[in-house]
Amino acid sequence: AAKAKGRSNYQFFEAKMNTLITQRMAMIKNLKLALERNEFILHYQPQVDLSINQLVGVEALLRWQHPEMGLLQPNNFIPLLEETGLIIPVGEWVLHTACQQCRLWREAGFPRVRISVNLSAKQFRQLQLANTVKKTLDETGMDPEHLHLEVTESLLLSNVAETISILNELNDLGVHISLDDFGTGYSSLNYLHRYPFASLKIDQSFVKSITRNSKSAAIISAIISLAHNLGLKVVAEGVEYHEQLPALLNMKCDEAQGYIFGVPLSSATCETMFKNIFNQNSKFYVRKP
Ligand code: C2E
Ligand code: MG
Ligand code: MG
Ligand code: MG
Repeated sequence: AAKAKGRSNYQFFEAKMNTLITQRMAMIKNLKLALERNEFILHYQPQVDLSINQLVGVEALLRWQHPEMGLLQPNNFIPLLEETGLIIPVGEWVLHTACQQCRLWREAGFPRVRISVNLSAKQFRQLQLANTVKKTLDETGMDPEHLHLEVTESLLLSNVAETISILNELNDLGVHISLDDFGTGYSSLNYLHRYPFASLKIDQSFVKSITRNSKSAAIISAIISLAHNLGLKVVAEGVEYHEQLPALLNMKCDEAQGYIFGVPLSSATCETMFKNIFNQNSKFYVRKP
C-alpha cells in the first residue's frame, strides 16, 4: 500500500510539474508576442522633492496587459523576460517609450518632469548599452539630464572593472545614474565612491520601519549622511504614512516616492495629475493628513 501510495504521490507530482511546465511555456510564448501585440504598458509613479514639497519626476514601471490574465505586475514576468533574453528588446521599448513620454510632457508645459527607468542586470551587460541609450536620446530628442537610469546592487558583485567602465560611459552621456533598492543586497558602503552614482534609493524595507524601529531610523540616517558626504542625493522608497515624512525631513533626505504621494499611474491619469498640480501652481503637492 505504501508503495502504491508513493507511486500515486509521484504521479500527482508529475502531473503538477507538467502543468507548471506547460504554463511556463505558454507564458514564454505569449511574452514573445507581447511586444508586437503592444501589450506592454508603462505606469508612472511620482517622485517628490521633500524640501520644496514638489513633484520633480516619475519612475516608469512596466506592466503587461495579458490577453487572458489581465494587468500583470513586473514580479510576475520580469524573471521570465530575463531568462529568455527578451528583457533586451523589451528594455529598449521601455527606454524609448519613457523618453518619448517625458519629452512630450515637457513640451506640453510640464517643464519640471524627469523620468527614471529601471535597468536589469542582463540589460546592463548587453553589448553597446551606452550606444543604445545615446541612440534613444537622439531619436526621442530627450535631454540626457532628464533621464535617470536605476540599477541595483547585484550589478556591483561581478566584473567590477567592466561595471565601472559601462557606468562611466553612461555617465559621460550626461544621464543621471541611481542605485536602486539600496540596503537589500550586498550593500557595502565602501564601494559607493568608486562608481559614478548621482543618487541612491533607500529600499522600502528600511523606510517602512523608520518610525517604529529606532535601529532602522539610525541606519537610514547613517546612509543619508554618508551619501551626502559622497555627493549623492538620497531618495526614500515606499513612503506610505505621513509620520514617515518628518523623520525623513529631519534626516535631510532629498526626495521620496511611495503610495503617500501616489501609486503608479497610466500616462493619461498622470497627465491629469500634472495639470492639477502645475496649472494651479499649487506649491503643496503632498496631501495633508
Ligand atoms: P523598483 O524599481 O524598486 O520600483 C518600486 C516598486 O515599489 C514598484 O513596484 C512600485 O509600485 C512599488 N512601490 C512604490 N511605492 C510603494 C509603497 O509606498 N509601498 C509599497 N508596498 N510598494 C511601493 P512594481 O511596479 O511592482 O515593480 C517591481 C520591480 O520590478 C521594480 O522595483 C523594478 O525592480 C522592476 N521593474 C519594473 N519596471 C521595470 C522595467 O521597465 N525594467 C526592469 N528591468 N525592471 C523593472
Ligand atoms: Mg526602480
Ligand atoms: Mg527600488
Ligand atoms: Mg525593487
